[in-house]
Amino acid sequence: MIDKIKALLQEVENMKAANAEELEALRIKYLSKKGEISSLMNDFRNVAADQKREVGQFLNQLKEATQNKINELKEGFDNVQTGNDDIDLTRTAYPVQLGTRHPLSIVKKEICDIFGRLGFSIAEGPEIEDDWHVFSSLNFAEDHPARDMQDTFFIQHNPDVLLRTHTSSVQTRVMENQEPPIRIICPGRVYRNEAISYRAHCFFHQVEALYVDKNVSFADLKQALLFFAKEMFGPETKIRLRPSYFPFTEPSAEMDISCNLCGGKGCAFCKHTGWVEILGCGMVDPNVLENCGIDSKVYTGYALGMGIERITNLKYQVKDLRMFSENDVRFLKQFESAN
Ligand SMILES: [Zn+2]
Repeated sequence: MIDKIKALLQEVENMKAANAEELEALRIKYLSKKGEISSLMNDFRNVAADQKREVGQFLNQLKEATQNKINELKEGFDNVQTGNDDIDLTRTAYPVQLGTRHPLSIVKKEICDIFGRLGFSIAEGPEIEDDWHVFSSLNFAEDHPARDMQDTFFIQHNPDVLLRTHTSSVQTRVMENQEPPIRIICPGRVYRNEAISYRAHCFFHQVEALYVDKNVSFADLKQALLFFAKEMFGPETKIRLRPSYFPFTEPSAEMDISCNLCGGKGCAFCKHTGWVEILGCGMVDPNVLENCGIDSKVYTGYALGMGIERITNLKYQVKDLRMFSENDVRFLKQFESAN
């Protein structure tokens, strides 16, 4: 009998209940009139007289342990139901740690917002492209160096499939599918086969804007550029345009803004010229319009494009391009207030 009591003691010690119903079932099993302990009590009278003292002690111990264990489990449920007294509802809450936008996302959004105020809407396209949308439709000659394996990531064994080297491919896709007027801004990631260093990366981000309609002139382009520069870098910002060459625009220009670090006086950042280059632009080449099925005798257009990393560097003086893709929280946290 002592062995049976000991086994029950062990059982009671390990007793668990997931809810009040299970606990009640345990109480009935051990403590009710027909329960295990009552039945042992009934057997007690058959115990030999010389053993009664010892068995009695064990039996009392079992009864007490069972009662205590059941009370203990019950208390646990009561606390859950009525709320734990340890919780102080008047205590100040811990601040929730919020994530922050990536600096490139902040600048991309700002650029898109500025052009949005001029009536441009956002257009996006695939990062894996074909030769037509990235090069041929945009007037790149067959032997243009940008097509070279050195610059472009081609898919092996199929030179018609490649990672886009610029977001101009989105412009082609929109012009092919939409009648003018077209007024779009295309932000996105682009890829070039370059060695990674503090000033070059194999992927980076661009924003391009395209406006095609009747009577769009270079003066319209210049006004849009001036508006953008002042909104982005402050009302004192000046711009200047230098003639340049791109296959898809004619005439083409590069735009500089007055250095926002020295205010145009000259510093190390602007190489003591007072100007920094920020984007390329021009009137859409009539060949490109025709390639996309737009009558170049009726419509004209302007396009402009810039690197988001470049603009971010100008705004926040990030010296090393690699910082943008390293996900170092110490770096990213600094842009918390810019959100
Ligand atoms: Zn400067």
